[in-house]
Amino acid sequence: MEFPRSRIRTLRYAAQLAFLFLSVHTGYRFHLFIQQFLDPNAAETIRPPSVDAFMPIAGLMSFKYFLFTGIVEPIHPAAFVLFVAIVGVSLLFKKGFCGWICPIGTISQYVWMVGERIFGRNFRMSDQVDIPLRSLKYLLMGLFLVLIGIAMTPNMMVLFFITDYYKTIDVRTMQVFTQMSTLTFWVLVGLVVFSVFYKNFWCRYLCPYGALLGLVSLLSPVKVKRSEDKCTHCRTCSRKCPSLLDVEKKDVVSSPECFGCLTCVSSCPAEGALEVTRKGRGGRRFPFRPLLYPVLLIGVFYAIIGTGMALDKWHSPMEREEYRRVITELAEEGRPPSEAR
Ligand code: SF4
Ligand code: SF4
Repeated sequence: MEFPRSRIRTLRYAAQLAFLFLSVHTGYRFHLFIQQFLDPNAAETIRPPSVDAFMPIAGLMSFKYFLFTGIVEPIHPAAFVLFVAIVGVSLLFKKGFCGWICPIGTISQYVWMVGERIFGRNFRMSDQVDIPLRSLKYLLMGLFLVLIGIAMTPNMMVLFFITDYYKTIDVRTMQVFTQMSTLTFWVLVGLVVFSVFYKNFWCRYLCPYGALLGLVSLLSPVKVKRSEDKCTHCRTCSRKCPSLLDVEKKDVVSSPECFGCLTCVSSCPAEGALEVTRKGRGGRRFPFRPLLYPVLLIGVFYAIIGTGMALDKWHSPMEREEYRRVITELAEEGRPPSEAR
């Protein structure tokens, strides 16, 4: 039986919720992992490697190191594997990671949905503001690419990988939220407020990872295609696109802003007017079932992670006692001098 096209959006919401739950669960397990070294009554537990998904810069660094040396940096090997998985699926299936898997994208979506409920709609910036703001994420991405891709040599990276700072980079990332500074708090509040009014504010204007994935996704053979013959020009697709793309005016959606959410395909009332397609021989586009898109996207994502696990590039080989040392030293750093031992 054919999976109804109109249900694809519901399927995406379910997938997003599942990945959000997984991310929160991973964060909680990581919290327990840290606590066992700080609280004598805490139970012994192992580090969840998937927490490295929250360290894309470590992943980028590790990826460059691998390109130059053929070695996967051993302290956070999952950061490398997850970086390859995320960029890999973006290369094959557009920015589908952002639309189906990324928990930050999911939270952004919930926030603008709340805004839509409150105001009956979301707001849209004028092109004069929207276009320069959208370039911000590319500037941030460029900064990271220059710093890591050009300025940092593999030798410099090795010296960084062996520092305690790098060993605790996951703990430090978590502390940004668990020991929030006043500045971080107000930045987050600002992001939430803007996200209520503007769809996907963080993703659209500021996320450097999304910018990178968007550029990579330009090479993807998979795109949404509109058939002029079947389109009734009802403009539902343009009105519903969360990336504010004017789908009704396009033959093929090739924008780096398209995150493969398939909302347009799911809501189009004209059968066959919007299809998920892949590029084939001679540049022709061949449609395939919309359901196949998330199945392949998530399937390939986990296949890459599974390969990393099979090659023993998932769990960090760092010894328990080394974790204890670096985590307790970091905790001491954070204490006021009067409380420090
Ligand atoms: S064009 Fe379609 S698939 Fe792309 S972001 Fe807009 S609604 Fe989603
Ligand atoms: S929703 Fe479908 S029929 Fe309506 S404008 Fe878009 S492609 Fe055409």
